[in-house]
Amino acid sequence: MRSYLAVLLPVAVLLLAGAVHLESARTQAYRAELRTGLTDQLDAQRAQLESRLMGLSLMMRGLEAAIDAAPDMSQERYKALASVMIRNHPEIINIAAAPDLVVKYVYPLAPNKSLLGLSYDQLSGQRAAIELARKSGRTVVDGPLPLLQARQMGFILRAPVFLSGADAVAGNGTGAGAAKGDRFWGIISLVMNARDFYLSAGLFNHDAQFDIALRRKAGPGRVGEVFFGDPAVFDQQPVIDEILLPEGRWELAAVPAGGWPVHAPDYLRSRLVMALLALVILGLSAFSLHQFRSQRRAKQRLLGAINAINDGFALYDAQDRLILCNQKYRDLYKKSADTMVPGNTFEHILRVGVARGQYPEAEGHEEAWIAQRLEWHRRADAELEQQLAGGRWLKIAERHTEDGGTVGFRVDITELKRAKDAAEHANKVKAEFLSVLSHELRTPLTVILGFARFLSDDKISPALRALRGNLEAGADVDAAVRARIDDYIAEVTKRAGRIEQSGNHLLQLINDLLDFSKIEAGRMEMEAEVLPLALLTDDVIEQLRGAAEAKGVALISDVGDVAAYADPIRTRQVLFNLIGNAVKFTDEGHIRVTARREGDLVAVSVADTGCGIPEDKIEHVFLEFQQADSSSTRRAGGTGLGLAIARRIVEMHGGRITAVSRPGEGSTFTFTLPAGDMRSASFCAA
Ligand code: ADP
Repeated sequence: MRSYLAVLLPVAVLLLAGAVHLESARTQAYRAELRTGLTDQLDAQRAQLESRLMGLSLMMRGLEAAIDAAPDMSQERYKALASVMIRNHPEIINIAAAPDLVVKYVYPLAPNKSLLGLSYDQLSGQRAAIELARKSGRTVVDGPLPLLQARQMGFILRAPVFLSGADAVAGNGTGAGAAKGDRFWGIISLVMNARDFYLSAGLFNHDAQFDIALRRKAGPGRVGEVFFGDPAVFDQQPVIDEILLPEGRWELAAVPAGGWPVHAPDYLRSRLVMALLALVILGLSAFSLHQFRSQRRAKQRLLGAINAINDGFALYDAQDRLILCNQKYRDLYKKSADTMVPGNTFEHILRVGVARGQYPEAEGHEEAWIAQRLEWHRRADAELEQQLAGGRWLKIAERHTEDGGTVGFRVDITELKRAKDAAEHANKVKAEFLSVLSHELRTPLTVILGFARFLSDDKISPALRALRGNLEAGADVDAAVRARIDDYIAEVTKRAGRIEQSGNHLLQLINDLLDFSKIEAGRMEMEAEVLPLALLTDDVIEQLRGAAEAKGVALISDVGDVAAYADPIRTRQVLFNLIGNAVKFTDEGHIRVTARREGDLVAVSVADTGCGIPEDKIEHVFLEFQQADSSSTRRAGGTGLGLAIARRIVEMHGGRITAVSRPGEGSTFTFTLPAGDMRSASFCAA
């Protein structure tokens, strides 16, 4: 939990910082938008104010022109002019003209009668503006200031009048702004109510969406004085516009009503969206973290398991680059272990190993060996054994993975290999020993058998034949001696018969041992040909018929027209063993030999009605020197090798031999061989 917090907390902090930044950016953007809107509105406001002032100024210029034309106009004339001029300007309180700075004309006259004759020299507070107008030759806006007329604030516009033409020549114009040769006539003063002026200039007309303020920047009066609106507006980073007066400057400032907004209008909604987004991101982060952790845990477990196994393990990707291998893998291939780093290809690692003499089998034909090894690696479907420098042997198993990579196992089979080699060697030595021994035994045995046969048959020995002849011819031989001689001959032949019987048994044993050792040494050769089984069976039955008949057992061949493709001598040996056993172990009833075709095989069965084999012994009878029942076998004679040899012969043909039996009822032995085509059998063709 704590480790999750360690990751998720910074993510949360980052998200929060991001959200704060985003909101501030949105607020900034909103303010900028607001400011642009405000700038446009303020511009319109400035234009209105300027045009209003310009209108007043032009009007005064008109009056100035009229005075220039008639400097001594009558009061009526002045009244007529002024009344027309101020008709559409309700803010104007009066408009006065003061030649030589003494008020001579004023309109409307009635409320302002007291002004007539007023010398501006008496108005110390307004002298500066008057002087400025005279000097600059331009209209000066003075105010707002307390007006004389009423207790109200107002503006006074002062416009200097210079006479041109004939009137001017007589005068001595001193105005700095006057044309050369113009004579200063006096001042026209326009007094207006400040509030009405603001009203006419639209300053109160705005729909209260922003606060507005005006201050003086240059001109008569205190520079910087805020004379309209709340002075605080100037402290709130307002939008500022400059109003150019004929003489002097004002600054018009505006801020949104109530100040600049702290947030964008829909900030709560966007906060909610951001909070939801943050929750989703945090959730996803927690989920990914969990996935990442469990994947890492699984990977670590897998790596731990791979490293724990006692065999070499390596995994290569589809491009045959090493992804991972365990320590055992590196330990096995010591000479190239340093190249076993992820990213190196199998071929590269192999080549380094070959160059460093890791594979003795590659010596002298390195390229060919590498090509062969790479081919096996690419196929990845075989298991092979590999010898390493130092004598160790590995079993290599490689398989393709689903994504086209290759996974490989290396099992150290050195001990196994040594044991197998030793066992094979011992077996070979044993087989050779048996072979030599059997051969050496057979030679004297044949001699013994020959002589035993000679002794057992009283008609073979010439000496005995002569003795018998003498005995039969001579009458002078005592009957008792004659009887003794006959007894002696009978005993010798009887015992010689025993010697022959045991000798034959011994010979069979030696022959079986020879066959067996041949098979063990891999020296038994087979030569297959098409073999009509009926002929072969009949031949074997014929040989065994005597023994069968002696026991009163019937021998029946029911083989039919089937052929095997097999070695004739060895097939005969198998048949002889099976039918021979059947005769041996059957005391009454019959023995039947059958054969049938089963696909590509022929199955031959030998069924008897003999003593049978107990179920738990059935598998053992095919093993070397194994007999089902030693007492009956002893009675019947045998080596315990016949079925073992028969099994090997059948298996060498690619067939199988099986037995089913019921003790007391009989046994059936069946073996299969590859089927042969009867039409091509040499016997039939002949
Ligand atoms: P053996 O030379 O002893 O006959 P085999 O390998 O031919 O050696 O047979 C092994 C044993 O299998 C026999 O000793 C006998 O116990 C049993 N056996 C083989 N054939 C038969 C059969 N037809 N009926 C009963 N037992 C049999």
